[in-house]
This record gives sequence, C-alpha cells and structure tokens, in this order.
Amino acid sequence: MKPDNDDLLDKLVPPLIRDLKPYHVPASRGMVKLDAMENPYQLPPALREAWLAALGSASINRYPDPGADELRQRIRRVFTVPDDSDIVLGNGSDELIQMLALLVGGPGRTFMAPAPSFSMYEMISLFTGTGFRMVPLKEDFSMDGEAMLDAIRESQPSCIFLAYPNNPTGNSFDDGIIGQIITEAPGLVVVDEAYFSFSGRTFLGRLPEARNLMVMRTLSKSGLAGLRLGMLMGDPAWIAQLDKVRLPYNINCLTQAGASFCLDHYDVLETQGATIRADREALFRQLDGISGVRAYPSDANFILVRLAVDATRVFEELKQRGVLVKNLHQPGGVLENCLRITVGAADENSALVSALMDMLGARAA
Ligand SMILES: *Cc1c(COP(=O)(O)O)cnc(C)c1O
Repeated sequence: MKPDNDDLLDKLVPPLIRDLKPYHVPASRGMVKLDAMENPYQLPPALREAWLAALGSASINRYPDPGADELRQRIRRVFTVPDDSDIVLGNGSDELIQMLALLVGGPGRTFMAPAPSFSMYEMISLFTGTGFRMVPLKEDFSMDGEAMLDAIRESQPSCIFLAYPNNPTGNSFDDGIIGQIITEAPGLVVVDEAYFSFSGRTFLGRLPEARNLMVMRTLSKSGLAGLRLGMLMGDPAWIAQLDKVRLPYNINCLTQAGASFCLDHYDVLETQGATIRADREALFRQLDGISGVRAYPSDANFILVRLAVDATRVFEELKQRGVLVKNLHQPGGVLENCLRITVGAADENSALVSALMDMLGARAA
C-alpha cells in the first residue's frame, strides 16, 4: 500500500500554505447566479458568430504574441490610457496582484489595504510571504484617511491596494483622501478600478503626474469573466520591471483574439453596462423596501445588504430556492448579517426580490 504524504507535506510545504483555505467557489449549476459580479448577458447572436470566426482564425499551433501588442493597442484606445503610460496584462487582475507581490513583496515587505476589501490582496500577500496590513473602514464604509496615513507612516508599505469602488461595500472612496495617500505613500499605490464600467470614475488621468500610481482594470465585470484579462497601467519604468516577472505567454491566443474582437465592439458591452446600472437603482429601491433589509448605495454591479435577521439562514434558504448570493456574515464583524448581491438580468433580480419578500415581508410604510 502506498504510504500517505502527511510527513513529506509537513516537512516541505510552508506552514502558512498548509494552513491556508483554498479559494472556495460554490456549485452554481442551474441556479440564479448572483454571487460573483458577472455580467448576466451574452454577446448578441450576430456578434457571437463574428466572434467565433475571429477565434477560428487564431493560430493555435503557434505560441501567442508574448507582448499581446495588438490587444494592448486596443486597450490604449478604448480606455484612453495616457500616451506616456504603459500597460501590462495579466490572466485576470489576480495575476497582476501576484506579479506585484513577486516584484515588490516578499518577506520583510508589507502590502496594505482598507478592510473589508477584495480578498485576493490578502490571500496573495499571505502565500508570497508578504506582510499584510488592514486598516478598518469607518462604520459607513468610507475610508479613514487619518488611520490610513498613520498606518502608512508606521508600516511603510511597498504597495497599497485601493479598490475604487470597493468590493464588497460598493462605495467609492473619497478622491481627496486617495490623492493624499498617493502623495504620502513610500511605495506603489494601485487604484483597482475593476468596476469602472459601473462607476465611470477613474484615476487614469492622474498617471502622468504621479510616478507611484498604477491603475488596474479587468474585463471580468464588464462581461468577459471567462476570458481572464486584467490590465495594469502606469509609468513605463514600473511596467518594464513587472514585465520581467510576467510569464512569457500569460495571455493565450484565444484570449488575445477574443478580447481584441470585443474591444472593437465595446459599445455593446457599454450598453449592457448601462442596463445593469439602471437595474441596480431599481433593485436598490426594491431591496430597501423589504422588511429588515438595509441596502447600501453602490457604484458597482452589486449591492451590499444588511439583514435584521440571521444572514446565514437567509443565504441558505435563498440557495434552497435556487438563488445564489454571497454570504459575508461573520459574527461580531463589520459585515455581520451582510449579503452581497450581484445585479443580474431583470428576471433574476425579480426572482431574488420575490424570494426575500416571501421570507421577510414588505417594510411597513
Ligand atoms: C472581481 C475583482 C477583481 C478580479 O478581477 P479578475 O480580473 O477577474 O481577476 C479585482 N479587483 C476587485 C476589487 C474585484 O472585485
């Protein structure tokens, strides 16, 4: 019989990785999927055909263009990246965060972010041996400027991540405070604009004046989560260093061809984004009208709600009714009894609201 590997794993795998919980993705087949901030819409059928044709002519027998130059040109044009800034691409922005950790993280270094925020900042810091400092948001989820600046002075982070708007709270931090952080930070400041399609707010225009600022975007939330394409924009000197820790062919040829095609038809994704923004406002009013539900205003394609009852019970019952949302509840934490709900298609949003109304009832007028 083959002996088990426990002793070898104990000897060879660093304890901090053995103790790590893997990133959990719940089963979602056949469910109304409102847990992962995906765009609920496909490309229109005619465009899908043309997209297939574009993929069909990709040379999958060859290695992809290592620099993805044509794709980066399109990104520059569609997102109006300043001329004197450069772009590096990642297999999702997750990979870009990992590249930043390889470049300016590691033992003896510290990354920083407000809390609660996007979980990958902490996860990647952990498994690259980078210290991670969290600075609590205020009770209304705005950023505590004083606390951030104090923590920066104390911990001297080599990289600070500011999700703008923030996940999972949905609000955009104050521009003035972010500006101050960029000025006072001893290292890089990455403004993560994953939800730009829904907020319309950006720090791209500040790249030319701030040498330590980088702006991160992704196509995931705009309708192409399956492609895995993230982009990081900043001073060409930084991009040149990041390019050295990027694996040579990290953006495969189907992603390059598929994303290029979609950027040539980006108006279609923008129209879908406008629909989602309008539906977000409708969903916000409906959620806020349910008894025992408090909805927080959002600049993104999701809405954070706090329940007056046990959120885990509501989460489980929603799941039984075929609606999957994200349960953020931690007893005694700042997200106690909170759920994060992605804005879906109109019928999906209605299914969620009806289920919640059924369980909780309408708010007394
Ligand atoms: C979803 C999300 C991302 C992940 O982007 P990928 O490109 O899919 O890896 C990055 N940042 C924030 C704040 C997010 O919410």
